Amino acid sequence: MAGYDLGMSPCLFCSIADGQIPATRVAETVDAIAFMDINPAVPGHMLVIPRLHSDDAFDASSASLGACMDLAARVGRAAVAALDATGITLLSCSRPDGWQTVFHLHVHVLPRHQADGLTIPWPCIPGDSAEIAENARRLRRTLEL
Ligand code: 5GP
Ligand code: ZN
Repeated sequence: MAGYDLGMSPCLFCSIADGQIPATRVAETVDAIAFMDINPAVPGHMLVIPRLHSDDAFDASSASLGACMDLAARVGRAAVAALDATGITLLSCSRPDGWQTVFHLHVHVLPRHQADGLTIPWPCIPGDSAEIAENARRLRRTLEL
């Protein structure tokens, strides 16, 4: 997909990938770039993007997805070594209802520490087993098509 959204506004992360908009880069590969998030949820919060535009994970090639996950793992390991992170949370939001606000695929890499203030945003409540099974059945049927 072209690096422009439907309104033909330049894509922010394509502009960062091109170097037209500055970003604090930490690592690069042929296919992906890691840079610091300007609104860090925790110290060391990074974003990993593919150089080639895709709107989100569902629109991306296997090569872009693989390149992003490989680089996310690499910078995550660096966060353990350089920032004493004792955990890493990887997050990729897709579409507005999935919390995405910048529509160029990206993986958040969040270096974590005990009691760092972040909390998982869903409660741990056992589901209805019939509903769980029915949703699995629907998914399997779709995947078999
Ligand atoms: P999303 O909300 O789509 O999951 O994540 C978008 C992320 O991009 C946010 O965490 C936001 O802080 C970050 N962001 C937005 N604009 C910029 C920018 O101009 N530069 C950088 N480095 N990060 C940005
Ligand atoms: Zn883009």
